[in-house]
Amino acid sequence: MPKKPKYLHKDLNLPVIDSHSHYLSHATFQSWQVSSGAIQRRIRTRTDMKEVEVPNPDEDFAQRWVKELDRYGIEKIGMMVGPESWNEFANALKRFPERFYGYANINPLSPDAEKQARHAIRKLGFHGFKLYPVLHNFHTYDEEAYRVYQIADELQVPVLHHFGISIGAGVNLRYCNPLDLQPAARDFPNVRFGIAHLGAGMFRETLLLFYQQDNIYVDTSGSNIWMRYIPYPSDLIGVMKRALEAGGPERIVFGTDSSMFPRGFRYDILDKQLRIFKDLQVSDENLRKIFSENILSLMGRRKG
Ligand SMILES: [Zn+2]
Repeated sequence: MPKKPKYLHKDLNLPVIDSHSHYLSHATFQSWQVSSGAIQRRIRTRTDMKEVEVPNPDEDFAQRWVKELDRYGIEKIGMMVGPESWNEFANALKRFPERFYGYANINPLSPDAEKQARHAIRKLGFHGFKLYPVLHNFHTYDEEAYRVYQIADELQVPVLHHFGISIGAGVNLRYCNPLDLQPAARDFPNVRFGIAHLGAGMFRETLLLFYQQDNIYVDTSGSNIWMRYIPYPSDLIGVMKRALEAGGPERIVFGTDSSMFPRGFRYDILDKQLRIFKDLQVSDENLRKIFSENILSLMGRRKG
């Protein structure tokens, strides 16, 4: 008989919600307009994945993710979703409301960004916005971004940001500094502003923001490969220790940045981060906050 896999979070009786992954449907791959060879090459040189499977348009992709969550005993997953897949994902939210959260990717520079943002939350059932300054070439203190924050304030949904380095081709690192977010966090004290991947290399700036603004949270998602590109030796246990000291367990949200099959859900990341928090002697109560309760409370404020 094959050996039963061991899942640490189950042994600890810890409910887990992955706050940050990507719903990369067939439509998303198509929207990239690059050959599958080019995608495979970029994936191989920029990530630890060996291969990528382009989803079959006839496949029930939402169901596939639910099966993947069941396989590892994960309660729920927060997906970043591009506009090309919004309708498909809205359907997934309707079918599996207990298993998915959705962050709608918004480009504040699109002429109809405000309309899109309201539509995503009110009509499609998304729970938050994801902004990507380095990809869409804007500063988070720009008027266009403020319009999106205004809507987040009205509807009480969180806004997650990707600053720092990125796997995306053609990004502009002129927009990579999380400190750009401070004026918005100051001006919208009732909005929760998230920074993905602990700042993806901009860790110092992320820690400073923790001090300056109470409405900042971070997610731990991804391999945190950025630690190789900062000018001092760093490891994940040291990084998590500093994040806990600066922000406290209430402002840290677990994520994996799972994205493509066949790799699927990145249990290795969950396992590694859980062991680190255990080594740092984080209490069971605080583990529950980081691995599920914080994201539940962030997503539970939505109006309308
Ligand atoms: Zn991501």
